[in-house]
Amino acid sequence: HPSPETLSPEELMALDNRHIWHPFTQHGTESAPLLIKSAKAATLTLGDGSELLDLISSWWTCTHGHSHPALNAALAEQANAYEHVMFAGFTHAPAISVASRLVNLLPGDLNRVFYSDDGSTAVEVALKIAYQHWSNQGEPRNVFIALDGGYHGDTVGAMSVGKGCGFFSLFRDLMCEVQVLPYPSTFIGDDEVEEKEDGAIAALERLIEEYPDQIAGMILEPLLQGAGGMRVSRPSFLTRLVETAQAAGILVIFDEVATGFGRTGTMFAMEQAGVVPDMVCVSKCLTAGYLPMAATVVRDELFDSFIGDSFSRALAHGHSFTANPLACAVSLRSLQLFEEENTLKRIGEIAEKHRGFLERIADRPDVTWPRQVGSIMAFDVKGSPDYQSAQSRTLKDWFLSNGLNIRPLGSTVYLMPPFCITDAELDRAYEGIIEGLDRLA
Ligand code: PLP
Repeated sequence: HPSPETLSPEELMALDNRHIWHPFTQHGTESAPLLIKSAKAATLTLGDGSELLDLISSWWTCTHGHSHPALNAALAEQANAYEHVMFAGFTHAPAISVASRLVNLLPGDLNRVFYSDDGSTAVEVALKIAYQHWSNQGEPRNVFIALDGGYHGDTVGAMSVGKGCGFFSLFRDLMCEVQVLPYPSTFIGDDEVEEKEDGAIAALERLIEEYPDQIAGMILEPLLQGAGGMRVSRPSFLTRLVETAQAAGILVIFDEVATGFGRTGTMFAMEQAGVVPDMVCVSKCLTAGYLPMAATVVRDELFDSFIGDSFSRALAHGHSFTANPLACAVSLRSLQLFEEENTLKRIGEIAEKHRGFLERIADRPDVTWPRQVGSIMAFDVKGSPDYQSAQSRTLKDWFLSNGLNIRPLGSTVYLMPPFCITDAELDRAYEGIIEGLDRLA
């Protein structure tokens, strides 16, 4: 086998075509993937030397920018000290430092951090903790509640509570039973918000009556459903929903895998609603997008219910790479950068620019449902709503061939840029979107 470093881009692509199975890809119809040569700040450089602005932060992970010098240095320093050790029976400063910083950033008594590998596994851990908590109390409960349109990952438990993305129906028989609440998504200028929110709260109240002492937990993406189509809901709805569920003894799990670490304008989306869930799942920007790692952070009381004399009360869960020191080191440095670079202030400026752009396009006949939360801005293009619609593909291809990495979710066009993006780069993205829409018309 030839070594990849000595191969030309064409030879590499031939090997990719022969050996690689890409995620969320229909290899029979989709064009070949783009070969990355390097990435710096908000720019991806391809094998042929052309450049793309990474306006979706490489699946929403890239935080301070690609190949950030401070993060690179933290990674190198940790690699020279030790790269990995198992986490049962061992511990290390990077994991301890990240956990203590994380719990200080989170509200209430969310004080206990369980590490895992990615967003999906953070959700699996939360579901297992909720289930076992009730079992440890001697009051087993097995009903979970999720919100329509939610997405929580692709593993079996996460698929079970992922409702409405349409990808998972094939696996129905593998999944556990979940009750679904309507999601009152809103947009700028929406005048039916209250009615939709009242409907969702009433649906929760009906479930509470229908399943007394059987509901183990409720999982949701606070303020913004990402993969479901950048669907925004109001903080006041979140407050009502959480208060209603917690008053009925339901454990509330926030999935902040996409919304965590500044994306919605505050460090965590939950801050805007002034509520404290029983558990929160984080990943993606936890490591600034450098390495796969996640955390499920739980309230003290929940952790305490796993303490006892017998191992059967303990959480029987762990991954080979739990709390990987390299991932922890880069995560710690990233959390420091939030303070050093005043990242939240920059996010506020990005939000302001997004709002200006949405105002500019709001009256276009082909644009509907403009919405924005923090550094995330989205709108829908009128027309075919299918995830794989011709319109969506045409737009994506046009953006890519014009230097913009923007991947519409069906009819939803959105930006979720790394926080290092400059005003000039954002302006380029906005002009590109307008030109793309004009071509489609
Ligand atoms: N939860 C949310 C809200 C997500 O957006 C995602 C991924 O996009 C996940 C969970 C799954 O994360 P991962 O792809 O890292 O498993």
